[in-house]
Amino acid sequence: MKQSMTFIPTLREVPADAEVKSHQLMLRAGFIRQNTSGVYSYLPLAQKVLKNIEQIVREEMNNAGASELLMPAMQQAELWQESGRWYSYGPELMRLKDRHNREFALGATHEEVITSLVRDEVKSYKRLPLSLYQIQTKFRDEKRPRFGVLRGREFIMKDAYSFHATQESLDEVYDKMFTAYQNIFTRCGLDFRAVIADSGAMGGKDTHEFMVLSDVGEDTIAYSDTSKYAANIEMAPVISTYEKRSEALKPLEKIETPNQKTIAEISTFLNVAKESCIKSILFKVDDRFVLTLVRGDHEVNDIKLKNLYGATVVELASAEETKETLNCVPGFVGPINVSNDVEVVADHAIAAVVNGVCGANEEHFHFQGVNIDRDAKISQYADLRFIQEGDKSPDGEGVIKFAKGIEVGHVFKLGTRYSEAMDATFLDENGRTQPMIMGCYGIGVSRTLAAIIEQYNDESGIVWPESVAPFQIHVIPVNVKNDAQKDLSDKLYAEFLQKGYDVLLDDRPERVGVKFADSDLIGLPVRVTVGKKAEDGIVEVKVRKTGESFEVSVTELYDKIK
Ligand code: ATP
Ligand code: MG
Ligand code: MG
Ligand code: MG
Repeated sequence: MKQSMTFIPTLREVPADAEVKSHQLMLRAGFIRQNTSGVYSYLPLAQKVLKNIEQIVREEMNNAGASELLMPAMQQAELWQESGRWYSYGPELMRLKDRHNREFALGATHEEVITSLVRDEVKSYKRLPLSLYQIQTKFRDEKRPRFGVLRGREFIMKDAYSFHATQESLDEVYDKMFTAYQNIFTRCGLDFRAVIADSGAMGGKDTHEFMVLSDVGEDTIAYSDTSKYAANIEMAPVISTYEKRSEALKPLEKIETPNQKTIAEISTFLNVAKESCIKSILFKVDDRFVLTLVRGDHEVNDIKLKNLYGATVVELASAEETKETLNCVPGFVGPINVSNDVEVVADHAIAAVVNGVCGANEEHFHFQGVNIDRDAKISQYADLRFIQEGDKSPDGEGVIKFAKGIEVGHVFKLGTRYSEAMDATFLDENGRTQPMIMGCYGIGVSRTLAAIIEQYNDESGIVWPESVAPFQIHVIPVNVKNDAQKDLSDKLYAEFLQKGYDVLLDDRPERVGVKFADSDLIGLPVRVTVGKKAEDGIVEVKVRKTGESFEVSVTELYDKIK
């Protein structure tokens, strides 16, 4: 590619609103431009890197036995209503209406679409397992889009889904995907860790995130300094009260049953609340439980509720199911509060337990003559706290250290969460109808691009690892008005292309200082400068990573840069 003909708008100044290195460098080196908050154009250099990352992803996905397809970004609301996520996903889901006033969502993820697709076509165990993936633009109306394409509202994701007749089959494919992810991020040159992640509302058990180690990461990884243990801090147990907490989260034994009147009230309460609520939460304070209903950003809620407040999170699948659960809850106090604020819910849970009352909200307590002690956080009662650096590792080996991570990938055993809700069933060997068992596997392709730059840069610009570099070689004639220099650089450019190298030729009539500065900023692995010694057939080679440079005759050039 000739630089005069492509579009690489470099900037000398560091853009004021770009906080992190990758965002600054992508703007300065002419990789991206923002259209609006969290929405970007990928310029030619970025597009080339994205294609390289995608190629690696495709090779590893195909190798893991998955087939590529492409599903619609525009998805009818009915699908999301079937799974229930139309109500639970919250404002992150971009919603729109067509001219007939029908409701749609822009795909934030594709469990619904793929489940409906597969349920309509696959009826027998003989067609399972089946793994499918796509690379596609996703939409999420993030509360805080930031750090350039690290957290966009429109971004590129590789999402894969697998369908199985048995748990063993899911386990097998999950392991394959796990290995594929390790290969992908290794081939991208990334320093990363696979960490135990939170299964949140999905109900599944096994889930891992792939975290690129970086100070700008929004996640915290708790890892052991001597063993393999590594977990998202959201999942790391609370060391000081570990025994107590694990006891709290054990399956509940039937010890004491709340009176039937209370349960009837709850049932009514749940039916009303169901329409606007995500899930019911069982709080445990001392030995007593309280049921609360929480809506809003349920991912955050789950994590906080579980780890900080020691709450048992129960999906509000149905009022029936919740009733059954409550029948087994010892010391059940009653239902309280509908809120999207975890702190408020926690406060109310404490008040309910401490005062032995139940009600719908703060005012209700106040009717009942109960003042809520707002300073009494549930963590005080339950003596719970997040894991800290220096704590003993939960696996008993070594001491906990923290690191910041950027989540670039996530693998997940979904189980039957979607197939049951959406009736995706198959006939097993005995002719019995069974729900398909599912897994899902995501990679943030555009986020990976930025994460690579976070790990590969210096004071002059980006330093691309060869596997994903937009071009391998940068050919720079010092002075394009000099015939010898121009001719030799044109000749080298043509030869490189012929030999299968991807080359960028800086044929612009710019000062050499500008060309070098741009070249360092863009960060291609090898630079070949054609200067005064062009007449003697000698050029200078510079390795971007090490800064090493040497003169070489063009006859030996190809041997030297291999
Ligand atoms: P995060 O915790 O960063 O919000 P997530 O857990 O919501 O991510 P997943 O639903 O697991 O994301 O999606 C799969 C992958 O998509 C993530 O591992 C991440 O690499 C990428 N991704 C998610 N949200 C964004 C975003 N807003 N911008 C860019 N990439 C994203
Ligand atoms: Mg998210
Ligand atoms: Mg996450
Ligand atoms: Mg995730």
